[in-house]
Amino acid sequence: MSKIWVYAEVSNGKVDPTALEILTKARDLAEDVEGVVLGPGATEAASVLGEYGATTVYASDDPVYADYVAQPAAHALYQLIQQHSPDVVLFAMNYDSRDIAGRLSAKTGSTLMSNVFEILGSDRAQTGIFGGATLVDVDLQGSPKLLLVRPKSFEPEPSGGSAKVVPVDIDIPDELKKSRRLERHEEAASGPRLEEAPIVLAGGRGLQDPSNFKLLDELASEIGDAAVGATRAVVDAGWVPYAMQIGQTGTTVKPGVYLAFGISGATQHIVGMKGAKKIVAINKDEEAPIFQIADLGIVGDALKILPQLIEEVRSRKG
Ligand SMILES: Cc1cc2nc3c(=O)[nH]c(=O)nc-3n(C[C@H](O)[C@H](O)[C@H](O)COP(=O)(O)OP(=O)(O)OC[C@H]3O[C@@H](n4cnc5c(N)ncnc54)[C@H](O)[C@@H]3O)c2cc1C
Repeated sequence: MSKIWVYAEVSNGKVDPTALEILTKARDLAEDVEGVVLGPGATEAASVLGEYGATTVYASDDPVYADYVAQPAAHALYQLIQQHSPDVVLFAMNYDSRDIAGRLSAKTGSTLMSNVFEILGSDRAQTGIFGGATLVDVDLQGSPKLLLVRPKSFEPEPSGGSAKVVPVDIDIPDELKKSRRLERHEEAASGPRLEEAPIVLAGGRGLQDPSNFKLLDELASEIGDAAVGATRAVVDAGWVPYAMQIGQTGTTVKPGVYLAFGISGATQHIVGMKGAKKIVAINKDEEAPIFQIADLGIVGDALKILPQLIEEVRSRKG
C-alpha cells in the first residue's frame, strides 16, 4: 500500500482521539502516512498527528471549516486529493466526517465504505452485517478509497515521530458556505466520557421509567470512574439524550467493566459493547440474550438490585 491519509477532526484545539487510533493502524499498512486537519487549532493539532505516525500534515486554521457544515472541508479535501493522489483516505465514523466523506465520494466517484471494523489492505476492509453478527470482507474500488472507521477499532499508540506541516490555502467559493453553524451546545456531563470510562453502567427499557436513570447516575457517582450509557430503545423513547446511546448506531465502548441493567442484548446493542473486558448483566428474564455474552449474570429486578448496589458501594467506601 503506498499512501494513506487520515482526516482528523479538531474541536476546541483537541484532536479527535479516533484519528489517533486510525493513524496507529495506518502505520502498519503503509510507510507513507499523512494527515489532513482543517479548522481552528489545526496547526497545533498537526504535531499530535505527527506523534502518532503522520509524516506530513496538511493543515488549515481557517474558521470556515468549523463555521460551515461539511461542504468547505469536502471541497478542500478534493482539491488536496487532486494534487497529492493518496490511495486511501481514512475517516473516523463521526458526525462531521460522515458528512464530509459522503460529499467527497460524490466528487471522486470512488468507494465509500462505512462502519469499517478492520482494514485488510489498500483495497479490502471488514465490516459487520446483520447488526454486527456476521463479519464480511469488502473489496473496494476506485481511487482514492474512502473508509469510515468505527471508533475503538484500534488501540492508539504513539510512534514518537513528528510531522512536516504543510499549510493549506484553498479558496472556498461562497456557494459552498450554505449550511452555517449558528450555535454549539455541549451536553452537560460530569465524570468521565462514555467512550473513555473504565466502568460503564448502561440502562435499557427494563428500567421502566426515565426517572430510574437517576439510580444509575447515583451509582456512577458513588463508584467515581464510571459513565452512564443506554440502549437505543430508551433514547428513541426520549428518556435520555442520544449522546448516551451505545451500539451500532451509537457509541462504541470498551470499558474494563460493563454493567447492563434491564437490557435484552439485541445484536445492534452488543456490537457497541462486546469489547468490554467483563460484562455483568442484570435482567428479570433468564432467557435474555445478554446472558449469552455476560461474564456474570444476575436474574432479578434491576430496580431492586440498584439501590442495594448503591448502598453496598457506599458502605465499602466507609
Ligand atoms: C438499524 C438498527 C440500529 C439499531 N441500533 C441500536 C443501537 O445502536 N443501540 C441499541 O441499543 N439498539 C439499537 N437498535 C435497537 C435494538 O434492536 C433493540 O431494539 C434495543 O437495543 C433494545 O433495547 P432494550 O434492551 O433497552 O429494550 P428491550 O429489548 O425491550 O429489553 C428490555 C429488557 O429489560 C428486561 N427487564 C424488564 N423489566 C426489568 C426489570 N425490572 N429488571 C431487569 N430487567 C428487566 C426485559 O426482560 C428485557 O430483556 C437498533 C435497531 C436497528 C433496526
